[in-house]
Amino acid sequence: NNIVAIVGRPNVGKSTFFNRLIQRREAIVDSVSGVTRDRNYGKSEWNGKEFSVIDTGGYIKGSDDIFEGEIRRQVELAIDEADVIVFVVDVEEGITPMDEEVSKLLRKITKPVLLVVNKVDNAMREKDAVEFYNLGLGEYYTIAGMSGSGTGELLDALVELLPEAQAPDPDAEVLPRFAVVGRPNAGKSSFINALIGEDRLVVTDIAGTTRDAIDTTYNRFGFKFNLVDTAGIRRKAKVKEDLEFYSVMRSVRAIEHSDICILVIDATRGFEGQDQSIFWLAEKNRKGVVVLVNKWDLVEKDTMTTRDYERKIREELQPFTDVPILFVSALTKQRLLKALETSVQVFESRRQRIATSKLNELMLPIIENNPPPALKGKYIKIKFCMQLPTPTPQFVFFCNLPQYVKEPYKRYIENKLREHFDFNGVPIDIYFRQK
Ligand code: GDP
Repeated sequence: NNIVAIVGRPNVGKSTFFNRLIQRREAIVDSVSGVTRDRNYGKSEWNGKEFSVIDTGGYIKGSDDIFEGEIRRQVELAIDEADVIVFVVDVEEGITPMDEEVSKLLRKITKPVLLVVNKVDNAMREKDAVEFYNLGLGEYYTIAGMSGSGTGELLDALVELLPEAQAPDPDAEVLPRFAVVGRPNAGKSSFINALIGEDRLVVTDIAGTTRDAIDTTYNRFGFKFNLVDTAGIRRKAKVKEDLEFYSVMRSVRAIEHSDICILVIDATRGFEGQDQSIFWLAEKNRKGVVVLVNKWDLVEKDTMTTRDYERKIREELQPFTDVPILFVSALTKQRLLKALETSVQVFESRRQRIATSKLNELMLPIIENNPPPALKGKYIKIKFCMQLPTPTPQFVFFCNLPQYVKEPYKRYIENKLREHFDFNGVPIDIYFRQK
């Protein structure tokens, strides 16, 4: 759940550094095909520690002439949302007024800051870099973004600074953690208020595993659940791009901290780009998803039927087509209970464990009937399968030639699993391995 933010003025090499971190990860986890990527966010891991990386600068349009206010907001955002801040400067340019501005902000905070001097690719530059002590941020790391030298040491230091994950309390009751996410004005707060009501039945307040996300336990309509609340870190955004970026950043935090993402969209606007990236974030993090089409009271029902609307959204969700979609109104409280029930159901589906015997009895005949196509005259035999003891559903199929099993067959297997078990709204992973 750790978040690392990269800050710095444009052209210092933040994106090169970001891409270097992310590629390592992309090579390990296969990416979801056909889904738009968010360039500003990715997962990385080093020395066995996983973390998310946000390139805040990637968002700023234009190049050199950016406003001071803009960079200030960028840094404040990183300070709010990240666990560790990586501040990148450029040895070729030396200290610029903007670097000083950023340092001033970073010197005031208690979160760890790593100062990284980029483009240090020879001994001369190594000497030049000492000027950055003047920023008052202490020790710095030198890297050469292009060749990647120095990155290893930097990452060693970085993961040392990440807070240790808190071990879960084995006696604690396992409650679903819901994150209500979506664009500004989609109706998230209204939905939450309608759901928990004025008579907020707050049971306990427990601090989440990350500093900024707080879980609050509620008991409504006979369901006990936690809502992930990131409200403590609200800042007023001034321009529209900022507002959207802020809400994506907040979503990152909330999504990572949750089990199930309740994605609220505005029925009067439809499924838009930002909804897509939030959905993608949830999928990428293997969270369960329920889509609520809110403000349904405002939609003229004879011009746009529910079925048409639903079909349109499902097209946007491709290839994840079995996500529950509900048409609700936070205002009239239409289908609120249903929304809660469905979210709890997705939570249960996500943590279900299918007995190995049951899984094999079902899947082996299906595979027998329709085996993976032979490749280069070689037959692929799948002999056995099981669900892995992982927090999200993962299945492994043991076979003689796992490398020959292609994507379409994987999809076929996934569809069969979805046909026979309830995995609505739940991402599942399928692996083929040699026994
Ligand atoms: P948030 O930014 O996602 O938390 O959105 P809000 O909950 O603040 O809602 C934004 C606006 O939409 C407010 O003016 C709400 O009153 C309005 N709104 C929210 N839900 C509904 C709904 O179901 N129907 C209608 N008609 N208006 C709604």
